[in-house]
Amino acid sequence: MPADNNLMEKLVSLAKRRGFVFQSSEIYGGLGSVWDYGPLGVELKKNLKERWWRSMVHEREDIEGLDAAILMHPKVWEASGHIAGFTDPLVDCKHCKNRFRADDPRIKGTPGEPDAQCPVCGSRGTLTAPRLFNLMFKTFMGPVEEAAAVVYLRPETAQGIYVNYLNVLQASRQKIPFGIAQIGKAFRNEITPGNFTFRTREFEQMEMQFFVKPGTDGEWFEFWKAQRMEWHYGLGIRREKLRFHRHTTEELAHYAKDAYDLEYEFPFGWHEFEGVHNRSDFDLSRHQQFSGKKLEYLDPATKERFIPYVVETSVGADRTALVVMCDAYREETVEGETRVVMRFHPAIAPLKAAVFPLVNKDGMPELARRIFDDLRRHFNVFHDDSGSIGRRYRRQDEAGTPYGITVDGQSVGDGTVTVRDRDTLRQERVAGDQLVSHLGDKLKM
Ligand code: ATP
Repeated sequence: MPADNNLMEKLVSLAKRRGFVFQSSEIYGGLGSVWDYGPLGVELKKNLKERWWRSMVHEREDIEGLDAAILMHPKVWEASGHIAGFTDPLVDCKHCKNRFRADDPRIKGTPGEPDAQCPVCGSRGTLTAPRLFNLMFKTFMGPVEEAAAVVYLRPETAQGIYVNYLNVLQASRQKIPFGIAQIGKAFRNEITPGNFTFRTREFEQMEMQFFVKPGTDGEWFEFWKAQRMEWHYGLGIRREKLRFHRHTTEELAHYAKDAYDLEYEFPFGWHEFEGVHNRSDFDLSRHQQFSGKKLEYLDPATKERFIPYVVETSVGADRTALVVMCDAYREETVEGETRVVMRFHPAIAPLKAAVFPLVNKDGMPELARRIFDDLRRHFNVFHDDSGSIGRRYRRQDEAGTPYGITVDGQSVGDGTVTVRDRDTLRQERVAGDQLVSHLGDKLKM
């Protein structure tokens, strides 16, 4: 299927215009592949993170939450394999000084050989042979910038979970099988970032590591695979746009026994946005070896000792927000006019409802304000009294607000208002003092 670049362009423009996503430091010309979330975007992403936390931590007795620091002891990254292996092969052009991934499809010929041609300046024979480049961001801790003071910005949140595995186990009095979940920032000095917020240099991950007895890992792996797909269905994402991709032997990471990517059909093709991995006992064994601290589990029933296996679910909060935005974007014809509507699942929509006085007189503005003030104590709602009612509906369609509440002449007399459904466009009359429970029922889903 050809890439629908047009759709991406429209989405990027809507995201900026309506305050979902802005480019970082835009007034200075922007910072490459770093993005900021505006008033609507921050609500969308926060709703996704809260929904994930609720389903992973609050709704499960066997998963505990954690919030580990971004900076960690540098030995963590030796143990995890990131210092040696978190690399991409890169080539440099000696003429124009640009840098590319060795597998950049725009390169003609073999880098390092005289026939190779730089895709930017077109020079021949100026590309170096591939060299390995580490994707971790480095910085220094303390006042002296020397090798001994190097620390890294974590490239994944998972390691914060492994190094706290014993602390959490003991503090929570869990027994295996149990899991630890965490949401947090991760940083990767990506060489070919792009596609809007798909691949960025600073992003948030929502990761859960489930510790199990060796031999039961296969079953748990299947369990978590199914759970995670269900969770995405629950966000209202179109099912035909979701699929699993199983890693081939060549694709499997050195630590993984089995791995599936959960993929979405973006306008630029099918790509991963979550990974479910059977990581065997690789992580805890390595941390035991590098730290010298025993990380074995003693099974209280059988008195067996073992290093637990880990089944991991790892999903990007930003990439999920992008999936949800791509999936929600629709152009429809309504009453002979085209409207752009973001069909977000009401539970994750940034705004739950908007309140409009039909006209700014005859007691309607005062009643609309009162209803707005009442609703905002329960939901994130918006008040809009400017422009024609049709224009106001369209603005909320673009923001993805599921319900539009209009206070009209009848409202002033009998206290009822109309509630317009964003998707069906049907309107129903509801008593103003019943709105909190009326919306509450609809938003529960
Ligand atoms: P990719 O192959 O796309 O680089 P990956 O296989 O390296 O991803 P993981 O290390 O498994 O990804 O990370 C888990 C999840 O974290 C990904 O599915 C994605 O949602 C998110 N993620 C990883 N790298 C980035 C990035 N640079 N920008 C945004 N999200 C990311």
